[in-house]
Amino acid sequence: MIAVISDIHGNLEALDAVLEDAKSANVRELICLGDIVGYGADPNGCMERVSAAAKACVLGNHDAAARDLSQAENFNEIAREAIRWTQEQLTAENLERLNVLPFEFIQGEARYVHASPDNPSAWHYILTEQEAWNAFEACPEPLCFVGHSHVPLRVVLAGGRLEVLEAATLELRDGARALVNVGSVGQPRDGDWRAAYALFDPEGRRVTARRVEYDLRKASSKILQAGLPEILARRLSQGQ
Ligand code: ZN
Repeated sequence: MIAVISDIHGNLEALDAVLEDAKSANVRELICLGDIVGYGADPNGCMERVSAAAKACVLGNHDAAARDLSQAENFNEIAREAIRWTQEQLTAENLERLNVLPFEFIQGEARYVHASPDNPSAWHYILTEQEAWNAFEACPEPLCFVGHSHVPLRVVLAGGRLEVLEAATLELRDGARALVNVGSVGQPRDGDWRAAYALFDPEGRRVTARRVEYDLRKASSKILQAGLPEILARRLSQGQ
């Protein structure tokens, strides 16, 4: 079993809860889709956990901005303030770890990328049907895992048609392809405050969306204590 996590955003309480949940699900491998830092109060703690536990990790747009602030130019003011703070906090070792992250990772039938396989460094969101088509076209593998929007999504392409799955478990049938947004560990935006990630069973060709409760109060109060924008603490409890 593989755990696929994304968009941790410096939320160590959420990350630890997910790692604990993954352990209980017999996960043997962890793959991270990026945005380890930005917004939350524990960028170094999250970097250390991910580099110790993950087999592979790709670069997210906040990770890219933390190593080079000029890449935060199109961020909103709050995100930019948080990434400036994050860059100051990061140790030289963790900045170096960010420096070597690739845009994509491919293993078996799956491709792993932060935003979209359609020009990964352009950080396209996959929110519309057209954007989902673009992603499928750019991904030769049957399965593609993404993050970036902080909203879990499972789309299957079979018989030339796209279908958005409501069910938490997706079974990949012969000839079908799938695009899975695993959601966000540290700052979900689908109205559910619990940390999101996905379990992937490559032998069974099955992907299951997971939600995990964590110490929300602790993560929020650390954000306030750090002097980060107050809304970053408040939005965690709203899942927005
Ligand atoms: Zn993100």
